Amino acid sequence: MTQTLRTDVLIIGAGLAGSLLAWRLIQAGKSVHILHNPKLTSASRVAAGLINPVTGQRLVLQENIEVLLPAAHALYQQLEEQFHTQFFFEKDMLRSLQHDKAKLAWKKRQLDSAYQHYICEIPSSPDVIKQSQTGYLDTNALLDALHGYFQQYNCLTEGDAQQHDIQVHQSAQYHLQWKHITASTVVFCQGWREINNKFFSFLPFQPAKGEILHLSTPNKLPEHIINQGKWLLPLNDGNFKIGATYQSNTNDEQTTEEGKKELLTALKSMPIEQQNITLTNHQAGIRPNTLDKQPFLGMHPKHKNIAIFNGFGSKGSLLIPWYSKSMCGHLIHGTALPGHADIKRFACV
Ligand SMILES: Cc1cc2nc3c(=O)[nH]c(=O)nc-3n(C[C@H](O)[C@H](O)[C@H](O)COP(=O)(O)OP(=O)(O)OC[C@H]3O[C@@H](n4cnc5c(N)ncnc54)[C@H](O)[C@@H]3O)c2cc1C
Repeated sequence: MTQTLRTDVLIIGAGLAGSLLAWRLIQAGKSVHILHNPKLTSASRVAAGLINPVTGQRLVLQENIEVLLPAAHALYQQLEEQFHTQFFFEKDMLRSLQHDKAKLAWKKRQLDSAYQHYICEIPSSPDVIKQSQTGYLDTNALLDALHGYFQQYNCLTEGDAQQHDIQVHQSAQYHLQWKHITASTVVFCQGWREINNKFFSFLPFQPAKGEILHLSTPNKLPEHIINQGKWLLPLNDGNFKIGATYQSNTNDEQTTEEGKKELLTALKSMPIEQQNITLTNHQAGIRPNTLDKQPFLGMHPKHKNIAIFNGFGSKGSLLIPWYSKSMCGHLIHGTALPGHADIKRFACV
């Protein structure tokens, strides 16, 4: 018979959200157990991991970038030291101002001092700007390292968390039970699949599918990340990625011929030698986007020991480090969550 396992926090889902939150809680001295189903696709395993403070045709600077970026750098550096592996790669980005909207936005942003650290002009190319403090997180390498660590300390279990398997005991110290695991608190980090979670069905998720291609070339790759609406991310040894498509209102995670065609068409206008390019992989995943474009953090309005840490949309690599610190403080010390992210904003439901 399997022995009962007691833990402070049971985390469901081991994508970037669940894994980084688990890491922070363990560092803070909590006992943690993580349950995940490796047979399910994880957006974190598909993501290019791009970090980009200024996004969209209107060149919008990410809110709270002054705290988000340092938190991301600090956490990834700490993890790089722990695992003796580089996970975060700084790389400038060249962005084409193809449309009038983008050109107009750039005119405005040039006058705004908040943007000075992040964008500058390239005098020789008036329709291209250079973005700095950009780069990418190798999410697969980081997750492999973290999962290896969790396995070593016997705190990662593979399994599917079906809701009817989770029991809530109101009186006991360890309130929640999933099969042989009892926990004081459970935190759901199931990415877009949270839409099926009855505890949090009141939250307005807006999942968005995306596809990316992995390619390789014997020719020289651009030095920078290229952003022309679709992006090209140069990697090592002639490998590169191109992405991403964006499709709302679908839960289908299959790669499609249309997605491939859209990306190969975008490739044609990229500043790269077009001959001898080989397609090596094609992936699809679903981003856990939210209606108000803010993450979903906090405790269930009725079940005080059931929490959620989710909704990082298309920006998990940038957002999760800072929000996981916030969530960790909330779970351990009861410190307030940032209002814009706290699910209390929907608690009237
Ligand atoms: C094509 C594409 C490109 C992207 N590009 C970028 C990018 O360049 N930069 C960026 O920052 N972000 C990007 N993203 C977004 C990024 O992937 C997400 O913000 C982030 O990975 C979300 O992490 P998560 O842990 O919340 O979800 P996920 O990574 O989806 O993890 C969910 C986890 O929950 C588990 N799970 C779900 N249901 C169950 C269950 N019932 N039982 C047990 N386990 C379960 C899964 O196994 C998985 O481990 C991209 C996403 C896509 C799809």
